[in-house]
Amino acid sequence: MKRNEAITKKKLLSGLPYKKSKLQEFNIRELKMLASVMSLESWGKTKDELVKQIINNQGELDLLDERLENFCEMCGNYVAIRQNAHVVAESGRARINMLKLCPSCHVMFDTRLKPRLYEALKNAGVKNLPESWQKSIYYQAIEASMKSPKRKKE
Ligand SMILES: [Zn+2]
Repeated sequence: MKRNEAITKKKLLSGLPYKKSKLQEFNIRELKMLASVMSLESWGKTKDELVKQIINNQGELDLLDERLENFCEMCGNYVAIRQNAHVVAESGRARINMLKLCPSCHVMFDTRLKPRLYEALKNAGVKNLPESWQKSIYYQAIEASMKSPKRKKE
């Protein structure tokens, strides 16, 4: 992210939550920028549509700061590359289900943390835990390749 763009986005975000009348004073470029920081689809949207979308999504404010700063949400280090990691693979791509992780934390999360949390929570009596947390993604990949039709023919 370019420095100037980051400053503009921070300035726009610092005003959140906005009243509808205030949002209507923004130009379309500012509204699109705000929408993009909030992970909202802005392409082809009219000004009125953008205003409505921003108003409806201002509730997730506590999740916005971390989008601007390039820190890993697990180890806290500032990193050049952050990957989108699903908290629960079976759920969708809503912001609440996504973590911005550095590549090494992403691997640790999927291979170590999820199976450990699964076992610990299960032992604590938690029910309906995500199936994808049960085994390391490496183990899941091996299982999937064993089951693939290509293998059966061999
Ligand atoms: Zn990290």
